[in-house]
Amino acid sequence: SSPWPQVSAVVAGLGVSGYAAADALMQLGARVTVVDERDGDAERERGTILSMLDVDVRLGAGSTAALPAGTDLVVTSPGWRPDAPLLRAAADAGVPVWGEVELAWRLRDPATPWLVLTGTNGKTTTVRMLAAMLRAAGLRTAAAGNVGDPIVGTVLDPAGHDVVAVELSSYQLHWTRTMAAHSAAVLNIAPDHLDWHGSVQAYEADKARIFTGVQHACVYNAADPATERMVRDADVTEGARAVGFTLGVPDVGMVGVVEDVLVDRAFVAERQTSAAELASVSDVYPQAPHNVANALAAAALARSAGVAQSAVRDGLRAFEPDPHRIAAVATIAGVDYVDDSKATNPHAAAASLLAYEPVVWVAGGLAKGAEFDELVGQVRDRLRGVVLIGADQARIAESLARHAPDVPVIAMSGIDNQPVDETMANVVDAAAGMAEAGDTVLLAPACASMDMFTDYSARGEAFAAAVRRRRRDA
Ligand code: ADP
Repeated sequence: SSPWPQVSAVVAGLGVSGYAAADALMQLGARVTVVDERDGDAERERGTILSMLDVDVRLGAGSTAALPAGTDLVVTSPGWRPDAPLLRAAADAGVPVWGEVELAWRLRDPATPWLVLTGTNGKTTTVRMLAAMLRAAGLRTAAAGNVGDPIVGTVLDPAGHDVVAVELSSYQLHWTRTMAAHSAAVLNIAPDHLDWHGSVQAYEADKARIFTGVQHACVYNAADPATERMVRDADVTEGARAVGFTLGVPDVGMVGVVEDVLVDRAFVAERQTSAAELASVSDVYPQAPHNVANALAAAALARSAGVAQSAVRDGLRAFEPDPHRIAAVATIAGVDYVDDSKATNPHAAAASLLAYEPVVWVAGGLAKGAEFDELVGQVRDRLRGVVLIGADQARIAESLARHAPDVPVIAMSGIDNQPVDETMANVVDAAAGMAEAGDTVLLAPACASMDMFTDYSARGEAFAAAVRRRRRDA
């Protein structure tokens, strides 16, 4: 009989994954309490539904201060810091603290393999490419996790899946305990979210947990030694192997590129001595080196699950990027306007800036403790000019002054109470004033958006809307 009716669980945080976790625990018959300091519209709406299912919902100030008596299990939102009082209290009392991903792992159908991936950048793109490849192979699949749909809902979906593609953030990995995936990939590692993790080492250690217990393939980026180190140090299931991906010609045991063809030298049959051709570089969209790397990582995971060569190609051709990821908005007077609002850290911004030249760069927002010297040094030769917005723009301005003193910079100092649409219109006007025909104006902020916008998509929408207004008025 199920142990769950005996369990009193507390769900910490009523975001999208907290809601899914509470719903799953109720379905299992557990007693569930949900707590969240926030009591905005979204939390209240979710809380109302859960209350009708007999969940004890506690919202607002003070609701998360203490661990309710008799708690057997805490399922925490990924964003909660380990030093939050309630989580500390749980740890002190020996009460297990899981993330929603760990809960999903425990509830999964063991016959459904999990293909999981993380990295500082490219996660959503890669998980969508992977799901497209699996679908092209005729498998019943879903992309879940950090990409949007909580994985706990996916594993409880009565329709069932042949295989799932799971995107995991560093926060989510921090709260996993026993997950041991079929195969796992780390795309790249650059400093990000250091304000949460505390240090680069702690951030890397959380990401590295993705390889623990892996059964088949540990996929790493041959151009990023940190990812290879994680595989080397990982405690995997016996027989699991390391598979690198490279934009160059792959060694045996890797996937890579030979004369504009994506090739597999890792999952080829013993007797097949040559590499297996998967797809052409031109099958990858948007065309940019970092995106070919994403495609190779997705291909390695798909191939580890037995997907045919042709399904890798068909999946790449069927793939459509999510919005605000290097999205072309319009061309006005010979200048291309591109929305890469999802470039929320310097490493992501570098990848997209390196795909354009000359480029007028629109940047700024919340820096999350990031450094900009390296980024500016990498891209300065291609910069026509820079327009800065947001709270931490001075940090970028200082790096530009140090490493690109000749590049013109326009600072859009945040005017209090000015509607963001107006600010964005001014930003686009300023960028247009710098650009010449043939240039690209690229929104790649290298920062988070929450100083001015609800999220990166609102920032991207505001930029795109300002560009479209300009085109209309042109
Ligand atoms: P994530 O889910 O990790 O945030 P996305 O796929 O949403 O990643 O891409 C976010 C941004 O990161 C993109 O808009 C692009 O600027 C950049 N990016 C995508 N793939 C890579 C990569 N492999 N290396 C560096 N930057 C990348």
